[in-house]
Amino acid sequence: MRCLACTTGKLEITNSRKHATEPRVWRRRACTNCGFIFTTHELPDYTGAFTVGNGKHRKDQIPFNKAELLRDLFLAGSHMPKQDALIWLADTIASKAFRAAAESIGTYKKSAKKTSLPVPVIDNAAYQQLVLDTLTAYDALLAANYKARLSLSYR
Ligand SMILES: [Zn+2]
Repeated sequence: MRCLACTTGKLEITNSRKHATEPRVWRRRACTNCGFIFTTHELPDYTGAFTVGNGKHRKDQIPFNKAELLRDLFLAGSHMPKQDALIWLADTIASKAFRAAAESIGTYKKSAKKTSLPVPVIDNAAYQQLVLDTLTAYDALLAANYKARLSLSYR
């Protein structure tokens, strides 16, 4: 990573904090060249890391796409004064869904053909329930708007 200000300096990490429950790291970085100090957040990219759909039939699975989840959350959360929280909600949902999907790997391992790596998959109904539960805990209207949009869409 390069310095935001001068783009040439080396960066020193002056403070680093792991998130208590999620695989995230918050860091303060200081440029050795110009002295500029800024914050970074390191977190996994869940897009494509697991699929949503029917665990038995690959053709019925859709790779998880965080951008699509964010679009749905912003449409459902248009009433919210602080929409930046939706970005963190999307990360929380992605993390929870990945962990649920990763449990499916155990069943794949036993019957593994070693020709391809197993892809974690979460059932579509379980995924939508996980999204609704997470949204409900944060903002009931957000969850209701999301659910209303779901019933209108092809899903
Ligand atoms: Zn700099």
